[in-house]
Amino acid sequence: KVKQNGKNNFHLFVSADAAAIERKRRIEFGLKEALADNELFLVYQPKVEIQTGNIYGVEALLRWKHPILGLVPPNEFIPIAEESGMINEIGYWVLHEAVRQTKEWHSSNLDLHISINVSPIQFEDPYLFKRVQNVVELYDLDPNYLIIEITETVMKNEEHANRIIRELHDYGVRVAIDDFGTGYSSLSVLNNMFVDMVKIDKSFIEHIVSKANTASLVKTMIQMGKSLNFSIVAEGIESKEQSIFLKDNHCQFGQGYYYSRPVTPEKIVDLINKKTMKD
Ligand code: C2E
Ligand code: MG
Ligand code: MG
Ligand code: MG
Repeated sequence: KVKQNGKNNFHLFVSADAAAIERKRRIEFGLKEALADNELFLVYQPKVEIQTGNIYGVEALLRWKHPILGLVPPNEFIPIAEESGMINEIGYWVLHEAVRQTKEWHSSNLDLHISINVSPIQFEDPYLFKRVQNVVELYDLDPNYLIIEITETVMKNEEHANRIIRELHDYGVRVAIDDFGTGYSSLSVLNNMFVDMVKIDKSFIEHIVSKANTASLVKTMIQMGKSLNFSIVAEGIESKEQSIFLKDNHCQFGQGYYYSRPVTPEKIVDLINKKTMKD
């Protein structure tokens, strides 16, 4: 049983590889039709004010239902969309759809802020600010309700990134640094005074109760937010203990399965109504 058949292993390796290549090819070609065929949709995860439990806003998260492959996770198809250049078109679809949905909530008196993820590739677009402004005006959204999430990667081109962040900020659209702490330029990002929000990556939140070092680190990040004047969002909160730790340490916002998974727009309305009934 332990004896290995080199030849068969080789065949297994090649066919697993071939299957991966075939899947990637299907995803790349499938993405070209995904928009026109209405296969993309958004789900929304609540962003909660940790001290009160109120829903402050939601993050739009992209989903794709491929006719044969079924639901393909964004961590799989977004890198492919970035490589193949499709990410810009997809990204602007997300912006339109999320802003349209937010206006719909506003017209039923649900005062929600909307966060959308913008790929580093899309962030290189010199017209990004103009395009955001056009969509905000098209749907007549108050720009203060829109939050653009970017990762530390965009800081590779620091001058360009700072200019766009500044333009968005001056217009009233806020910028959040997503997955904070996992990139290579963490502290230089915080030095940019036009960043309004920092989201502590879930790999830290995962250990705030079990590891003293991580707890200290997260406390320090919360303090830093207070002194440098940006709000802190803790992502990936899965337990009551984690939420209590963050509440005791005065973290402003939280997201995670403990509060809610990403859900449909209808379910967001239900969640808010339930919350109101409880109070
Ligand atoms: P992200 O922006 O950091 O989003 C958070 C991810 O963590 C989401 O995964 C969310 O469903 C998941 N999550 C939320 N709470 C918890 C929790 O308590 N525990 C755990 N384990 N996970 C939690 P999702 O929806 O699969 O998205 C993955 C990533 O794909 C996003 O990470 C973002 O980088 C990217 N993405 C999603 N939608 C878009 C989009 O419209 N445009 C772009 N460019 N990227 C997107
Ligand atoms: Mg995000
Ligand atoms: Mg994140
Ligand atoms: Mg992420």
